[in-house]
Amino acid sequence: MVDLSDITTELFIGGEWRAATETFTTMNPTTGTGLAKLAAAGTDDVDAAVAAATAAFRGDWGSLAPSRKGMLLNKLADLVEADSERLAELESADMGRPFGMSVAMMIPNLVATLRYYAGWADKINGELIASDGYMGGPTPTHAYTRRDPLGVVAAIVPWNAPLMILGWKLAPALACGNTVIIKPAEDASLSILRLADLIAQAGFPAGTVNVLTGVGKVTGEALARHPGIAKISFTGSTETGRAILRNSATNFKRTALELGGKAPQIIFEDANLDAAIGGSAMGLFFNQGEVCAAGTRILAHRRVYDSVIDGLKAAAQGQVLGDPFDAATTMGPLVNAAQRDRVLSYLERGASEGADVVAGGSAPDRPGYFVEPTVFAGRNDMAVAQEEIFGPVGIVIPFDTDDEAIAIANDNQYGLSATVWTTDVSRAHTIAGRIDAGAIGVNGWSPLAPQLPWGGMKASGIGRELGYEGILSYTEPKTVTIVL
Ligand code: NAD
Repeated sequence: MVDLSDITTELFIGGEWRAATETFTTMNPTTGTGLAKLAAAGTDDVDAAVAAATAAFRGDWGSLAPSRKGMLLNKLADLVEADSERLAELESADMGRPFGMSVAMMIPNLVATLRYYAGWADKINGELIASDGYMGGPTPTHAYTRRDPLGVVAAIVPWNAPLMILGWKLAPALACGNTVIIKPAEDASLSILRLADLIAQAGFPAGTVNVLTGVGKVTGEALARHPGIAKISFTGSTETGRAILRNSATNFKRTALELGGKAPQIIFEDANLDAAIGGSAMGLFFNQGEVCAAGTRILAHRRVYDSVIDGLKAAAQGQVLGDPFDAATTMGPLVNAAQRDRVLSYLERGASEGADVVAGGSAPDRPGYFVEPTVFAGRNDMAVAQEEIFGPVGIVIPFDTDDEAIAIANDNQYGLSATVWTTDVSRAHTIAGRIDAGAIGVNGWSPLAPQLPWGGMKASGIGRELGYEGILSYTEPKTVTIVL
């Protein structure tokens, strides 16, 4: 049982911890027993956080030199790095991912994002614009753009990768001079509560970053509606994204929506098959399949179809389900009972639609929210190929031509990411241009690196995070014209 004695389970507002009137309880996904009792922020708490963030924006944070902002982000990165194991422990205990993966991949991603945007803090420039004389006359003008911060940003994050995804919002928002209110997911708030302590330790002015744990329909909705918030940066389900878009219309908030996915992994006949099968299995099963970019539709050229089926079957059967803190475990439990039941309902649905069960297909007989890694063989019009399942479930679909592969890949409401396995360079570039996806990996997953813009097309969302796109999205371009 993870020790929570040093975690303050209150709201972090204006640099102080405050109790809330309501609380809610979270579960340990490995055992199915209670884990923590957390504060549930109400609308008054949201008002208080907006007031604190606005005061910091207009005061101590807003007036801090850009290079000092960068130094604070770097300091936070150092503190996170030094605290990696504890942060990883909290996150794995909360949402079930194997601890080793949290240490090796998730926390380093947050550190890298903080450092990347720390470097941007004093490099945000507008542009000088060659302009005509005033109103077309002889009087010259001097025109330029400036990139100012937006104001208070709300970062609403999901449970599948809380710290990593939070970093994609927090670091660029702060680097651009905004202040932030964080709303963690109900099922995985602990690592973010620990981060709040590190933010205080780093020395950010009070109110620069606030954390409101709580229920999505109360806390999240109040943030989306609040007129004092300039931008909502949301990662989560497509359904919640729609609600946020509607509620944000109150004051025309900027919105960044990173939503669901149903990524295709296309394996061509000329692919390096060992790499393609190993990579596809990783794309399918990493993080229990609770990944927006999970490669859940494996499109296999008919000439390699049987080998792909055999390879994925072996990969599924080779997964070791178990306690996230057991070093042998490669796949932990799903986040909660509702998610497990939802995934199991898709396993039944796949079988009833006539998909062949190549591997897995049910829940193991053990406590906790475990589901067997499952591979179906079937068609793209099946529900298991069309809908986001958000668990360790994939379907293999055969194709004969490049055009057919593209048509199948694009025949889905989502357009977040895709993977292409081929040794033909021109085919790789051509397919990348034709596929409906915000990020395309060739012969490997599209890496989630701070320098590379990330986001989706179609029902996978609006906007891009990370890279220079991330900077642009947290600034308001203003045009200034001086009549000389
Ligand atoms: P979710 O939409 O249920 O919840 C996400 C967050 O929104 C949580 O903090 C929740 O409390 C909050 N929320 C819920 N209802 C709200 C409302 N009405 N108003 C405002 N906030 C509200 O998503 P989840 O189950 O936590 O995460 C899984 C989903 O996230 C999947 O669909 C997955 O594809 C998606 N996701 C996308 C990306 C990406 O980069 N595109 C990354 C990770 C996860």
